[in-house]
Amino acid sequence: MSVLHYWNYPTEIFCGPDALAVLAQRCNLLEMRKPMLVTDPGMLALEPLALLKAHLIEADIPFAVFSDIHSNPTLEDVARGVSAFQAGGHDSLIALGGGSAMDAAKGISLAAVDRHGLERFEWSQVIERYPSLADFPRLELPKLIALPTTAGTGSELGREAVLTLSEHNIKQVISHPELLPATVILDPILTRELPPALTAATGMDALTHHIEAFCSPLYHPMSAGVAVEGVRLIQQHLAAACADGQDMVAREGMLVASAMAAVAFQKGLGGVHALAHPLGARYHRHHGLLNAILLPYVMVANRAVISDDIARLARYLELPQADFDGFLRWILQLRRQLGIPHSLGEIGLEADAAPWVGEQAVADISSSDTNARPLSADEYSQIFRNAVHGELALVLDA
Ligand SMILES: [Zn+2]
Repeated sequence: MSVLHYWNYPTEIFCGPDALAVLAQRCNLLEMRKPMLVTDPGMLALEPLALLKAHLIEADIPFAVFSDIHSNPTLEDVARGVSAFQAGGHDSLIALGGGSAMDAAKGISLAAVDRHGLERFEWSQVIERYPSLADFPRLELPKLIALPTTAGTGSELGREAVLTLSEHNIKQVISHPELLPATVILDPILTRELPPALTAATGMDALTHHIEAFCSPLYHPMSAGVAVEGVRLIQQHLAAACADGQDMVAREGMLVASAMAAVAFQKGLGGVHALAHPLGARYHRHHGLLNAILLPYVMVANRAVISDDIARLARYLELPQADFDGFLRWILQLRRQLGIPHSLGEIGLEADAAPWVGEQAVADISSSDTNARPLSADEYSQIFRNAVHGELALVLDA
C-alpha cells in the first residue's frame, strides 16, 4: 500500500452504572487539586450535578461550579470562564453535560494557558500546520475529566471544541490533542433524566455519525469496524432508552455507542452533517433532529456508491431484508417509533433557502469532503428540497 495513513485512538474510559464513583480517585491520581466544574445553567437543579458535587465533597476535593455559558458556547463565555478559573486558583477542569459543557471546558482549558491558541488552533489552520498529533506544540493544558449527560455528540472523546463567534454567529472548531479529556466517565445514571425527545434526537445524531463515518471513502478500517458495532448498539438500545429513561442497560448502551461514534468519525462525516451545520446555524433547530430527518434523503443520494457496504451492515444487524432498501426501511421505522418527523417542512423549514443551503453545504469542510461521493451545490440544494417536501426517491410501504 503506497499511501501513508494516520490513525490514533483516544483516552481512558470508565463505564457503567455508578462509574461516577471513580471520580475522586481519578482527580487524586491526576493531581487535580482544585478543579473548576463546568456545566450548563440547565444542569444546576438536576440530579447529575448534585451527585457529582456529593462525591467531591465527600472526598474533600475543593471545587467551584462555572455555568455561565450559552447552549452554543461563545468566545465570551470562554473568556469569563478563564477569569473564573484564574480568580478561583483552579488547576484543572471537570465537564458535566452535553456538547456545550464539554466545548466550553475545552475552550477554557486552552485559553487559560494560551490566549492566542483559539485562533492558532482553528481547524482550517491546523490541518496544514500540524498534520499529525505529534506536530502540535505541547501546552501542558489543565487536566480535564469529562462526564456526558447526553448520548449523542461524543464530544467527551474529541480533541475539538466548537465555539461561536457571537458577533457573526459563526462556529469555529478549535483543535488540539491536549483537549482530549484525561479521563472519561460514562455513567448511565447521569443520563436518566434526559427526556424522550432529546434522547431520541441525540441518539439519532450518534447513529448518523456511525453511518456517515462507515460510508466515508477515507481508508480507516479500525474506525469502520467501530461504526459497524456502534450501529448495532443503537439498534439494540435507542428505542428502549426513549421508552424507559430508567432502563440503565439501554442508557449505558447508548452512552457507549455515542462515545464510539467519536472514534468512528475520525474516518469523516458526510452530506447529512454538511447540510445540518448551516441549517442549525440559520434556523436554530436541534442538530440531532436535523440529522435524523436528513439521513434517509442523503443515503438515497449516495445510494449508487454505498449500497454494497450498507447491505453488509444490514446483514450484521440481521435485518429481515438485508440490503439497502431493507436498511432504509429500518431507519424509517426507527424514526417513526421515536416520533421524529419525516420532513423538514414539518419543523417549519421552507424550500426557498435551497440555493443558500447548497452553497453552504458544499463549503462545509468538516463533512462535505468525506461524503461517500462528491456532491455539488445543486445536488445539496435538491436533497434539501426533497427533505423539506418529504420526497424520498424510494416508495416504501413499511
Ligand atoms: Zn453530529
